Amino acid sequence: MSEIVEDFERFGFKAQILRGVAEAGFTIPSPIQSEAIPHIMAGRDLIGQAQTGTGKTAAFGLPALDKIERHDRVEILVITPTRELATQVSDELFKLGRFAGVRTVTVYGGQSSFRQVDLISRGAQVVVATPGRLLDLLNSGRLKDLAPRIVILDEADEMLDMGFLDDIKEIFKFLSPERQTLMFSATMPAPIRDLANRILRDPVSVKVTAEETTNKDIEQRYFVIEEYERDDAILRLIDAEEPSRSIVFVRTKKEADRLSTMLIARGYSAKGLHGDMEQKSREETIKGFKSGQLEILVATDVAARGLDVKDVSHVFNYHIPFDPESYVHRIGRTGRAGRKGAAVTLVTPLEFKELQRIKKNVGAEIKRETVPTLGDLKKAQSAKLINSILHARINDEANALLAHLEEQIDSRQISLKLLSLLVEKQGAQGPDNIGLSAQRLEKLLNDQKRHQGSKGGGFGRKNFGGGGRSHGRFSKGGDHGFGDRSRLDRGGYGDQGRSDRAGDRGGYNTRSDRDHGNFGGKKPRGGRDR
Ligand code: ADP
Ligand code: MG
Repeated sequence: MSEIVEDFERFGFKAQILRGVAEAGFTIPSPIQSEAIPHIMAGRDLIGQAQTGTGKTAAFGLPALDKIERHDRVEILVITPTRELATQVSDELFKLGRFAGVRTVTVYGGQSSFRQVDLISRGAQVVVATPGRLLDLLNSGRLKDLAPRIVILDEADEMLDMGFLDDIKEIFKFLSPERQTLMFSATMPAPIRDLANRILRDPVSVKVTAEETTNKDIEQRYFVIEEYERDDAILRLIDAEEPSRSIVFVRTKKEADRLSTMLIARGYSAKGLHGDMEQKSREETIKGFKSGQLEILVATDVAARGLDVKDVSHVFNYHIPFDPESYVHRIGRTGRAGRKGAAVTLVTPLEFKELQRIKKNVGAEIKRETVPTLGDLKKAQSAKLINSILHARINDEANALLAHLEEQIDSRQISLKLLSLLVEKQGAQGPDNIGLSAQRLEKLLNDQKRHQGSKGGGFGRKNFGGGGRSHGRFSKGGDHGFGDRSRLDRGGYGDQGRSDRAGDRGGYNTRSDRDHGNFGGKKPRGGRDR
């Protein structure tokens, strides 16, 4: 076990906590974890800022759990804005702390408070609560003895959005000043800073920027092609890249159906995923993809929202997405949990402007490459074939077959026939050259340079709000804007896709459902505290 969680050992956690880490499958600490945990272990108050899905729960959860000393009282209080988040955090802390015998109770509105208080009094070390219910219990004196040594305010900016700031201030009046306080948030608007000044003591600030979390592990490339070449290009790139598991993003459900049918006809194991599918077949498709039965998912943006599959090696953009935020969201399906990923985008001359806009807003490098020719692909495939033949093990059946064949034809004939069979199976196909001719490409690049020169600012701000926001893609909007959506499921460490998670969860998270049921009672979904 110690080998697996080597990178977590340096924090100095107890063995039982490391076991929880290993069982959770974490191997490498996320950036926010690397930076925040040592300070928390050292006893400092802390403000942690990182996007959703970057592992903030374990960033505060692991050191907090590690610090539990007494088992007969509440030592850790986590305050989260919604009951769904409370449940998620509680599940995660239960998972990480189970070998240390940690018991967690979730406290939120809409459920019997007597039961919650009763569970706490029967001995829980961790309480995860939403502000409204917690304040009710404190005001009515039913949580008289609550004196946690560590208090965590999770998703503080969301608390602000939901109007909980006054409640939070009230809550802290009940808490002992002898405490370590941690505050986590994706963004840090002024009221949150003010709040931090009130409730934290000489805090360390730890901030992990979007670049560090999303781009480092995702290699981003684009290919300029003609409109009519899309299918050939996507096939060629799939063949050349050999993704273990990939998502091809398309713009419409019709396209998802057409492209998946085309891929299946060519022998790939693919399926479409779009919003018009029944929940059941959607779940089955996702399950097939997660289990490795399906190699390629052809998905629309909406359908893939919140999708958290660990080993997606490639994201293909069959069309360039409509806006930078979709782009970031799409490519965030790969390179998850510290793994490497590749994002491959097809771009036509007409879409070239869109690409510049995305490049500008994303901030990361998106490299231009050329689609491998049929000849290149065949060469690469031959090299691999030769390699695998050289390294193949000879088995008894082969011996018997060869003896049989040699009675009929000579060895050279046999070899040639076998190789032909193998080559055919590799199935390189399509036209030799795919992509813009050198001439057209040069003109396109020159036009773009000129255009940029005359416009100064480029394309950046036309449709995408203010310029100069390095994290603009994660801005918060109104109820229906992208800001809202991207809050729900921005990329990173297996984000939880708050909005449609209930659907995804059904079949796959039974363990934590069960775990939770053991102690916390029935798990409600969604909704806010009051
Ligand atoms: P945040 O609070 O920043 O939105 P979470 O704490 O909910 O993110 O973590 C998102 C997901 O990433 C969870 O499923 C969590 O179990 C997983 N995770 C957290 N840390 C790691 C890690 N070091 N390695 C792999 N997965 C991790
Ligand atoms: Mg969180």
